Parts: sequence; structure tokens; C-alpha cells
Amino acid sequence: MRALVYRGHKRVEIENVPDAQVPAPDGALVRTTNFAICGSDLHGYHGPVNEERIGNTMGHEAIGEVVEVGPEVRRIRPGDHVAVSAVVGCGRCEECQSLITARCANSETRVLNLGQAEAIAVPAADSSLLQIPDGVTDEQAVLLTDILPTGYKGVRGADIQPGGTVAVVGAGPVGQMALETSFLFGPSKVFAIDQVPYRLEEAERLGAIPIDASQVDPVEAVLDQTGGKGCQHVIEAAGPQATVRIAFGVLAHGGTLSQVGATTDPEMTINLMALFSKDLTYRVGLVSPQYAWPELVPLLQEGKIHPERIFTHHLPMSDGPRGYEMFDNREDGVIKVMLDPTR
Ligand code: NAD
Ligand code: ZN
Repeated sequence: MRALVYRGHKRVEIENVPDAQVPAPDGALVRTTNFAICGSDLHGYHGPVNEERIGNTMGHEAIGEVVEVGPEVRRIRPGDHVAVSAVVGCGRCEECQSLITARCANSETRVLNLGQAEAIAVPAADSSLLQIPDGVTDEQAVLLTDILPTGYKGVRGADIQPGGTVAVVGAGPVGQMALETSFLFGPSKVFAIDQVPYRLEEAERLGAIPIDASQVDPVEAVLDQTGGKGCQHVIEAAGPQATVRIAFGVLAHGGTLSQVGATTDPEMTINLMALFSKDLTYRVGLVSPQYAWPELVPLLQEGKIHPERIFTHHLPMSDGPRGYEMFDNREDGVIKVMLDPTR
């Protein structure tokens, strides 16, 4: 089967790899019909070469059709049209049973890095797969595998109260999901902080106040527009040291910062002494998509959110390497790239 494979710094190639198979008695084989490229795929792509990962399949945001299930699978059947959770657990421990797969007690690698291929070997199928319900489109289902639950986790973690002030740092795909769902909680103001003008324009269309960090000091700009107080609810949706600093900088005293951006720099520092007097709450962690599905599916079915607006590019899988390049360089107004494995 064909897959997009990691070959080193800024090198993803389309290659033939061994066919995927049902990985265990509780697993399933899914033939993909669509998958997307995530900001998390870019960490490996533009970072230093990781020798251990050379030859690995990229990606973790796929939907498809179940081809075969193992003998222990109960809920999922061949022929089901499914979304594959980006984060998978053993499906049996207390945490997985509570749908918080990111805290699985029994697995080490929790992000399913197999998604950008013609077929996927899905572990713990009953816990990892969502049967795509009526009223949810394929584009929306791809977003349910990872970034819609991630943006929503950021929002939930920030405890937005009606009338509260919100800032979302990073207006990439994950930031867009956080911006859109933050409005469900009745905030008075939502700031979007980024440095890519067209992403800020997209945020503005949602009703957010754009702050261009390449033009102004974003912390000063937010303080100016909040009477010097900052925001009570801040969502960090990018990950680097610079955006984590901005997120703490715009946070009001007594506020809550919820970080979903993935920090990959082991040297990153947070000045706890400076933060002590802020009396703040800080949450950070990996998403458990399953946990958010029961809340997000009805919002999609009732038309209360339209996250599929972020798909700016649809490409055949054979153009996957070009899709990576474009997404990484933020060319051509790209926000999210969808790939079609049948082409
Ligand atoms: P992305 O890289 O497209 O988005 C990041 C955005 O932040 C970009 O628009 C960029 O312009 C902006 N940005 C970067 N540095 C900035 C700076 N100094 N000032 C202002 N803006 C800046 O990627 P994405 O797909 O939106 O993903 C965002 C992050 O979320 C990534 O780190 C990804 O790994 C992470 N992620 C986490 C989870 C989780 O489970 N917590 C799940 C999915 C993705
Ligand atoms: Zn992802």
C-alpha cells in the first residue's frame, strides 16, 4: 500500500510500505478515504533529523471504512464509516473506560502515527473509532479525529465564563478550533494572536479581535484593550517558547491558562517566581478526542459550529509532499490541507 513516509529534515515521500493488518484481537483494519496534515506532523518534519523515525509513516488524522475486525471487537463492524482517534489507549484501563485515552495506564505511544496511508492498523478498535453519525460531513469527521477536540479541550480547560475575556495564542488550525468554540460560552471579547495576516483575517470573520504579533507587542496590545488587566481565559494553541510567554503575559490575575500547543523544546522555561503573584491556574496536556465526541457531535449536527471552513486545500495523496511544504511555509493562504488516498 502507499503511505507518506518520513525521510528526514523537510522530507516526506510517498512510498510503498507493507500492507496494514488487524494488529491484535481487539484491533481493526481501516481503509482510509481521507486524511489531513496536522501542525504536530510539522514538529518532526521541520525539526532536527530524528534517525529513529526515518521510514515511519506520518499522520494521525484519518477517516475511512472498516475492512476487518479482530475477534474481540464488539461495537465496530466491517463496513462501518469511521473516524480514527489520533490518540489511542489500551481501551481497557479505568482511564480509557472514562474516555480519557491520553492518560491510558497501559500504553506508551499514544498518538497513532500511521494515519497518512491507504490503510491503518487500529489498536483497541472499540475505543479508538467513532462511527461517523448522520449529519456529520467527512471534512468535519476528519477534524473530530484530533484538532477540533484539541481546540475544544483548550477552551474547556480555560473555564470561560459568560462575559469573560478570552485570548487564543496561535490562529493556526488548532487555534481556529479554539476561537470558534470559545464563542459558545458567551465571552465579552475574544482576542486572536498570530503573526500570519490571513489567519488573523479568518479569526476576525468569527468575531475575534486580531492582534498581529509581527506588528505590535501582543502583550501590550491586549493589556491596552482590557484596561490593563489582561484576559481571564487564555488558550495557548501553538507551543513554542515565544507563544507560551505571550500566553502567560496576557493572562489576568486569577485567570486560567489552558495550553494545548505542543512544546517540543526540552529547554523551555517558565518563570514561576513572576507568575506566583498572579494566583493563576495552568492546565496543559494531550487531547483525548473520544472524551469530546459526545459534546462536539451534536454541535456539528445542529449546525452550531462550522469548523470545516478551515480546509483551504484538497490534494491527491500523491501531492502529499507538496502539501507538507505548503503547510509548513504557510503559502497560498493555507490553513488546513486534506489529502485523498484514492488519488
Ligand atoms: P500551526 O503550526 O499551523 O499553528 C501555529 C500557529 O501559531 C501558526 O499560525 C503560527 O503563525 C502561530 N505562531 C507561531 N509562533 C508565533 C509567535 N511567536 N507569535 C504569534 N503567533 C505565532 O499548527 P496547528 O495545527 O494549529 O497546531 C498547533 C499546535 O497544537 C502544535 O504544537 C501541535 O503539535 C499542537 N497540537 C496539540 C495537540 C494536543 O493534544 N495537545 C493536538 C493537536 C495539535
Ligand atoms: Zn493532529
